[in-house]
This record gives sequence, structure tokens and C-alpha cells, in this order.
Amino acid sequence: MADARRLRSIALFGGTFDPVHFGHLRMALELKEALGVDEMRMLPSHRPAHRETPGVSGAHRREMLAIALRGCSELQLDERELRRAGDTYTVDTLEELRAELGEEVSLAFCMGLDSLLTLPSWHRWEHLLELAHLVVVTRPGWQLPHRNSGPGHEEVAVLVERHAGEVSHLLSEPRGRLVLREQTLLPISATHIRQLVADGRSPRFLLPAAVLQYIEDNQLYTGAGDGAGQN
Ligand code: ATP
Repeated sequence: MADARRLRSIALFGGTFDPVHFGHLRMALELKEALGVDEMRMLPSHRPAHRETPGVSGAHRREMLAIALRGCSELQLDERELRRAGDTYTVDTLEELRAELGEEVSLAFCMGLDSLLTLPSWHRWEHLLELAHLVVVTRPGWQLPHRNSGPGHEEVAVLVERHAGEVSHLLSEPRGRLVLREQTLLPISATHIRQLVADGRSPRFLLPAAVLQYIEDNQLYTGAGDGAGQN
């Protein structure tokens, strides 16, 4: 029976992880369990050198993520975007993964509702669902946009209507569904952590202790901005 098949399934959790914190890690782990996917990959995004936080290169961001994931078999690190030179677009990453994995693997790209609303400005955004599913994480009680939810939401609303799917589709179909997933976010942000460090205050208990140690050892986010270790 076609609908009884169970595909290998891989979900991707992208971000700048500058630095990675418990909000990211809990979200990725809870999503992996809720979606029932085989793999959840953390995908640090490349940034042009001039847009990096001063003193914090892609290499540092990757290293902090690697440290955070040490001993964690549920989450994997996928470094492909950091290895690519120049601008990185999600659509290119998904094309690369699709070429690598073939057609019969389910791929799901996870994003917040705020990212979904900006989707029409993404490079070749119409192709994303030809390559993967999109999992849109909303806070409990939030709604996906519909046709009359406001100017600029029309294209997204059409996409949502056309592709709406269930979590079960992520395991039975390789691509093409837009799945809504409600999840509570821990009130932690990387911006706040960077600010605490720059102010000489402690971000302890907002991120793994080993990541904090790495930040201290390398004097990251101190505001010195010497560009040390830039890619
Ligand atoms: P910044 O403060 O620098 O904007 P951030 O903490 O929001 O960073 P990003 O690296 O931009 O982190 O986010 C990566 C992904 O993690 C995004 O999909 C974002 O929606 C999600 N995310 C960020 N903070 C949290 C959180 N507290 N709980 C769950 N998910 C989060």
C-alpha cells in the first residue's frame, strides 16, 4: 500500500547559532521527537565576513555547536553551508542534499513563523517545496497567515493552502508539504547572551557550560571586535 511506506527522514534546523543556546537545543530535540524523524541536523549558516559578529567567525560558531552536541546522539551537525564560499541560499543547500540523498528520502526544513512570512524574499523560494517539506514552528495559539490576514501575506497564504500537510506526511512523502507545529520557546536569545557577555555579566545556565567555557577561553563577544579568527 503506497501510504503505508516509511521513508528515511531527515529534518534540518538552520540558524546562525551565534552562540548556540538551550533555546535552540531544546527546540531541535523536541521537534525531532514530535516529528518522529530519523535525523535532526543542526545547520549553521554561512555569513559574509562583514556581517559576522566581530571576533566570532563561522569556525567559532561551528566549534561551539560541535561542543554543545558532544555526546548527544539525537542531534547532528551539518557543516555544508559553512564550507561553501560566498552567499548561501537554503534552496541551494536543499538541492545539494537532494542530489546526495536521492528522491526517496524525506527532507524537512524547519523554520519559525517569522521566517515563513519573509519567504517570498528568499532566493528561488518557489522551489523550496519541490525539494523538501517545510515545518513551520509557531507558538501555541498562533495562526498561519490566510488570504485576508494582511498585505504581503497573500503569496504565503496561497502556499500554505496549497501545501498544508500533517506530521505523518513527513514520514511517507519525500517533499512538498507545509506542516505546522506548535511549540513553546524558551525565553533565550543569542542577542541577549552576546549582550550579557559584552556587559561583563554572566550568561551561565542559558547555554551549555562547555560552550560558555569556549566563549571565555577565546574571549568571544567581549566587544573587543579584533576580528580574531575571522573566516
Ligand atoms: P539572534 O538573537 O542572534 O537573532 P537567535 O537566538 O534568535 O539569534 P538564530 O541562530 O537566529 O538564534 O536562530 C536559529 C533558529 O532557532 C531559528 O529558527 C530561530 O527561530 C530558533 N530559535 C531562536 N531562539 C529560540 C528559542 N529561544 N527557542 C526555540 N527556538 C529558537
